[in-house]
Amino acid sequence: MKKKYFTDAERRAANRAGVKRYQQTEKGKASQKRYKQSQKGRIMGRAAEKRYRQSVEYKAIKKQYAQSKKGRAVSKKAGRKFLLKQYDMTLDDYDRMFAEQKGRCAICKTHQSKFGTALAVDHNRKNKKVRGLLCINCNTDLQVLENKVFCKKANMYLEIHRAE
Ligand SMILES: [Zn+2]
Repeated sequence: MKKKYFTDAERRAANRAGVKRYQQTEKGKASQKRYKQSQKGRIMGRAAEKRYRQSVEYKAIKKQYAQSKKGRAVSKKAGRKFLLKQYDMTLDDYDRMFAEQKGRCAICKTHQSKFGTALAVDHNRKNKKVRGLLCINCNTDLQVLENKVFCKKANMYLEIHRAE
């Protein structure tokens, strides 16, 4: 005898099966393609990609790649090109400096492995002389500190609010 009523679970299963059947038809495939190409489909795709990039799995793959021969070769090549162009520095100069600092940021002393990127070359903007290798955070903070106009204004602002 045919059952007249379905339980919720049965109804959900039937719906899922129906959706699956539809997705396999030409019409269903075309509709899925349209959705993926639509703005909403793209946003969903980006969100999924972002989730993936934050996953442990992706980070492990990234780390593995960075430590691999190819990863090292790529970053060395990119680093060489960048250093030579910007600071008139060779990769050997960079490596020597890196070894002298034991792979740590010259300011906060955090090791490079704690950051996603290589230590940045810090230089004196006036005479272009290289001062040291800094982590991304310290490099940014130092730039702020060196901006005298900003520091003066920021100090005035802090002074105003100190009494509060
Ligand atoms: Zn630092």
